[in-house]
Amino acid sequence: MTEQTDQQALLQPMPTDWTRALAVVAHPDDLEYGCAAAIADWTDGGREVVYLLATRGEAGIDSIAPDACGPLREAEQRASAAVVGVSEVEFLDYRDGVVEYGLDLRRDIAAAIRRHRPELLITLNHRDTWGGAQGGGFWNTPDHKAVGRATLDAAGDAGNRWIFTELLSEQGLEPWNGVRWVAVAGSNTPTHAADAGPGLERSVKSLLEHKAYIEVLTDQDPEEYVRTFLTGNVRQAAVRFGGRPAVPFEVFPADRIPLV
Ligand SMILES: [Zn+2]
Repeated sequence: MTEQTDQQALLQPMPTDWTRALAVVAHPDDLEYGCAAAIADWTDGGREVVYLLATRGEAGIDSIAPDACGPLREAEQRASAAVVGVSEVEFLDYRDGVVEYGLDLRRDIAAAIRRHRPELLITLNHRDTWGGAQGGGFWNTPDHKAVGRATLDAAGDAGNRWIFTELLSEQGLEPWNGVRWVAVAGSNTPTHAADAGPGLERSVKSLLEHKAYIEVLTDQDPEEYVRTFLTGNVRQAAVRFGGRPAVPFEVFPADRIPLV
C-alpha cells in the first residue's frame, strides 16, 4: 500500500466495550481542542471519564503571571470538563512549559492509572510535529511530547509490580493491567475515529469555558473562533469516516504496547 492510499484509509470505529477511561494531557484546553466531542458522547452513554493534567497551564497567557493564571486556568478546566460530563479532574502540579519526560512523570501517571483502573487511556499527540505526516508539519511542544510518551509508557508501568514498587508499598496501589487501548488524539497517523455529531455542540461550549485563554488568542468572536476550529477539524476527518464528522485517534491496542 502506498503512503498516499494509507493516508486515506478508512478510520475504524473506536472500541465501545469499555466502561472507564482516563485522559492524560499536559495543559488545560488540550482535551477541548482535541477530543471533547467524543468524550461528551461517551459520558452520555454512561461511561466514566476522568481527566488528569500534568500542569495547570500557568505559563500559557503572556499577560497574566503564573500565580494568578494557574488557579484561573484550573477553574476553567473544571468548568470545561463539567460541560462534557466529566466531574473528576486531577492535576499533577508539574511546572507548565518545562515538563520533562522521565521516571517521575511515568510514576505519577502510572499511579493515576492504578487508582482509576481505566480500560481506555487517552492522551494527546506525543510526536515531534502536528500534521505533516509527509513532512512540513508544525513543531509540537515539549510538554505534549513528554506527557504523551509517558502516558503510553505508563500503561505498561501500571501493570508491572516490579517497576515503581513504591506505588504498592507506600501508596497501596495494586498493579492494574487492564488497559486495553491507548488512544492518541491529534495524531498525524490516526487509525480510528469516534462519531463527533452527538457531542459537537457541547465540545464548542466546553472549549469556550477557556475564556481567559481564548480572549488573548484571537480577536475574533470567541464562539465563532471555537466553532470554526472544531467544526473544521471534525469535517476534515469525515472523509475517512463515511462522511460523518469524526474525532480521529491513533489507537494502540494492548497487543501492540508492552503491557505486563
Ligand atoms: Zn497544550
